[in-house]
Amino acid sequence: MSEGLLSGKKGVVMGVANEKSIAWACAQACAAQGATLAFNYLGEALERRVRKLAADIPGSVCFPCDVTKDSEITEFFEHIKSEFGTVDFVIHSLAFAQREDLTGKFIDTKRENFLLAINISAYSLVAVAREAAPLMNSGGSIISMTYYGAEKVIPHYNVMGVAKATLEASARYLAEDLGPKGIRVNCVSAGPLRTLSSSAIAGMKLMLNTNEKNAPLRRNVTPEEVGKTSVYLLSDLASGVTGEVLHVDCGYNILGMYGADILSQEKQGE
Ligand code: NAD
Repeated sequence: MSEGLLSGKKGVVMGVANEKSIAWACAQACAAQGATLAFNYLGEALERRVRKLAADIPGSVCFPCDVTKDSEITEFFEHIKSEFGTVDFVIHSLAFAQREDLTGKFIDTKRENFLLAINISAYSLVAVAREAAPLMNSGGSIISMTYYGAEKVIPHYNVMGVAKATLEASARYLAEDLGPKGIRVNCVSAGPLRTLSSSAIAGMKLMLNTNEKNAPLRRNVTPEEVGKTSVYLLSDLASGVTGEVLHVDCGYNILGMYGADILSQEKQGE
């Protein structure tokens, strides 16, 4: 394999469900830069699909891990330790909320559903970082996928917005805890993308349309672009970057108001 930005590095990819998963786009980008990868899968239902995809990446391995179970996270990293010895990076690209909570009003979120969303979507990063850090002998990089709904209210994103805010804050505290070991922790805030999980969000079409019409680049982001940014954060190019939330959203988050095109159309009509 030719020299790449991640040549010789061993990484863990958590969150591949199918070929549309952001985790899979990141995995492909990392493999193209020379990384060797370990994947998790959630239950037997996803095992075949993940193994089939992973087979495209030479030297990769797959093990089960449901992040609601501490024992599975521990066993997952034990498997990785025995396969790889050490780990250089982790991609945490997973989340969950009940479908009923991604429509209607946030105020109606039940306690158990709120806790489930935070547990899987945010606490899991803490639990994963705790198991991964001892394997990162010569420093490392951990990234997690977030969304703008952590910062601003997005229709129907609801409890997932609260979970993402928790995730982003957790990444900052982890960055402080792990910084002295040379381990960096960052979030990638991706613009809306059609995936298995995002199909559960009632406002997904509106999110895609609004982003496409108004983002400075006047289009939606691609999974490949999220993958490329992930490579940057995981590589030595980002050696001085930690605790950040890096937006890969065609610039949507910088807007304070929409309507630049409407205004110039009105001017032309004057
Ligand atoms: P996806 O459905 O492909 O991936 C979600 C993954 O979460 C799946 O692989 C699923 O198996 C995993 N998961 C759920 N519960 C789990 C559990 N208990 N244990 C282990 N894994 C579990 O969807 P995606 O859009 O690729 O989502 C990946 C990440 O990107 C999520 O954090 C999501 O919130 C975030 N994100 C998505 C978008 C988007 O528009 N699709 C935008 C910004 C951020």
